[in-house]
Formats: sequence, structure tokens, C-alpha cells
Amino acid sequence: MYITSIWLGVIGGGQLGRMFAHAAQTMGFKVVILDQQKECPAGQVADLQIYANDTNKNGLYKFGTLCNAITIEHENVSIASLSKLQNMTYVTPSILGVSIAQNRMFEKHFFVKNNQNLAIKPAPHCIINSISDIQKISPELLPGILKTTNMGYDGKGQTKVLNIKDIKNAFIEKPATYILEKMLPVAHELSVLLARNENGITTVYPIAENIHRNHILFKTTVPALNIPKHISKKAIDAALFISLKLNYVGILCVEFFVLKDETLIINEIAPRTHNSGHYTINACTTSQFEQQVRIMMHLPLGDVRQHSAAIMLNLLGDIWFNSTRSSQKEPDWNKILNLSGAHLHLYGKQEIRLNRKMGHITFTAATILEAQTQFKKACAILKIT
Ligand code: ADP
Ligand code: MG
Repeated sequence: MYITSIWLGVIGGGQLGRMFAHAAQTMGFKVVILDQQKECPAGQVADLQIYANDTNKNGLYKFGTLCNAITIEHENVSIASLSKLQNMTYVTPSILGVSIAQNRMFEKHFFVKNNQNLAIKPAPHCIINSISDIQKISPELLPGILKTTNMGYDGKGQTKVLNIKDIKNAFIEKPATYILEKMLPVAHELSVLLARNENGITTVYPIAENIHRNHILFKTTVPALNIPKHISKKAIDAALFISLKLNYVGILCVEFFVLKDETLIINEIAPRTHNSGHYTINACTTSQFEQQVRIMMHLPLGDVRQHSAAIMLNLLGDIWFNSTRSSQKEPDWNKILNLSGAHLHLYGKQEIRLNRKMGHITFTAATILEAQTQFKKACAILKIT
């Protein structure tokens, strides 16, 4: 045991905070969550929860004075609060990475500025602040996706737009700053997950191949057999370049699209552990959450070797509902856990909602084909078509 208690703090009480707490507590650290939500996924398992939002003065003070180190589990945190906490204790990641990642406009500027023959090439886009901006839109960008610049996750704040009229309607309904992105012919999606410590030592997890449905991650497969090696290399180089540019410390995930003509497009960055990295818990020597703990505690980074092939399936609230959505029932975990290599993770969310991430299952196997077989059986059991 450690002679004195060491407290690690997380801003945000969602599932990423919950899985972080599991890893931190395994290693003997105490975990405190800053979130005003009672019974939130991370709060349920943490040693302590401070019931305050991230701009509450008293809450921040209590949190900052207690913690030996602090991290985040979503990027929509107050930058002013992060800066206050930085003056009190060790905070990772630093403000620069978070402030870029929490605003799609800053993010796009950052990509454009750093596109030096690397794969840091964003989707064709424009910024919309006013009706007159809408009148200037190039027809090249349509059909497109209109995205709010902040608070977007799991496809929230995104609208498909076919023409100028659709954009005008969306803008009039909710005037704000938007990014209009061209709808791209995406063949594959991938993510690069890396961990970088304060000495600049970096470990990169194997490339993850991601399939989204309705803009929400559906499935992650690793190894990413559909992604050509030269594309993976380009994506890893780009992610490393970004981590260097930001002098980044922490877990960083970079999402990419591979277009039908093999062009690599950068989508977004997440300055934290990522849904596409959940497979690391069951399939890698060191999980993304343990790596986050190690960075906060100035401990050596762990080995990121993948010891099993893995497929991760997100469990959305939809599978708890019957076909008419009039009643709810627990899915048949008995049948699921009868499948070899199935690892069930449920997040303890109090309310089941359509499109809400309630948990995930990771299927591990000696080969990706075996994992694929178990995955298909699970989809049949859960009636996921
Ligand atoms: P979020 O912050 O919700 O993850 P993303 O911008 O990553 O938002 O979009 C979610 C998903 O929507 C992407 O992973 C992709 O499947 C789809 N998507 C987003 N932008 C585009 C685009 N420009 N062209 C085609 N598909 C897109
Ligand atoms: Mg995304």
C-alpha cells in the first residue's frame, strides 16, 4: 500500500471516468470525480464524488486541493477552470490540446495550419456565422454535414444538408457558429490512439478500424485488416506530429476517414481516452485507462502490445427496448457470456435511452476471424441487424 493516500481526479462522471477509476483503483490510487450528476457512471465506483459542475468555485477548490493529479474524461470542460486547477496541482492534458479539440473551428484551423505534406488534411469545409456566409457557400460542399462548433459528440449537433435551403432553415432555427463539411465518400474509418508522457516518450496502440452507424461508433476491429499498411503509417505519422506540435501529455485519439480513392482525411482529435480504445482493456498488455493513470503518476508507460485479436461492439439503449419501443427488458447476457471470449462492460447508467451508450462487449480471440464469428452470434442474440 502507499503510505499516504494518493488521489487522482477526473472532471466528468461518464463511462470513461468509470473505466479510469477501475484502472486507478487496481493500482492502489484513490479516485475522485467532479460531476454534479448523482449516480453517474464514474461516481458509482469512485472513492469520492464532488457534486459540482466544473465552474463551481467551491467544488473546484475542494477538488484541486485534494488531488495529486487531475485529468478529464470529455473535452467540453471549462478552460478557465482547467487553468485554475493547473495552478493547484498536476493537470493533464494541457489546455492547448483541450481548447483545440473542444471547438471544431479551432480544430479545422489547426489541421489546415499543420498540413505539411502529412495526412493532416481535413474534409473540405467552411465556417458559417451568418446568413450572408450561407449565400457564399461553394456548391462543391454539398451535400454536406452541418456541425455545431462545440458540444458535439455521438453525432449530436450534426445535420445532413442537401442544399442551401436546408442550411438556412437549420441556421434560422438555431443561430450559431457552424462548420459545413462536404459529405465524403468514406470507405473506411480508423483511429490512432497514443499515450505521451511528460518526457515526450510515446506509445502508439495498433490502428483501430471503426464502423459508425447514425454517426455513432458501432464496432471497432483490431487488427484493422481493411486498412492498407501505407495508410496506417501515414495516419500514425500524422498523429505523432500532432502530439509533438501540441507538446501533448496524456492519451490522444485521432480519427481519420479513408476515402474510396484511398485519400486519408483527418476528422477530429480527442484529448482523452476514446471509445475506439476500449478494446485495449481486454486485448492489450496495458489498457488506455492504465496508461492514463501511469502518465498522471509520472510512472513509466506500459507495453501496448496486443495479445488477442479484438472486436468491440457498442451497446446502445436501443437493445433494451422491444420492437415497438413500448417496454424495456434486460438483454440476454447469459447467452452473450456463453460465447467464448466475450467481455461484458456495463456503465451503470440510470436511464436507458435510444442511441445512448449503455455499455460495450469486447470479443477477444486468437484470430480476428474467430472474433468475427462470436461478434456475429452476439448481434443475432441481441437482434442487431
Ligand atoms: P462526433 O464528435 O460526434 O464523433 P464526428 O465529426 O466524428 O462527430 O462524426 C461522427 C461520424 O459521422 C463520423 O465518424 C463519420 O462516420 C460521420 N461523418 C462525420 N463527418 C463526415 C463527413 N464529412 N463525411 C462523411 N461522414 C462523416
Ligand atoms: Mg468522432
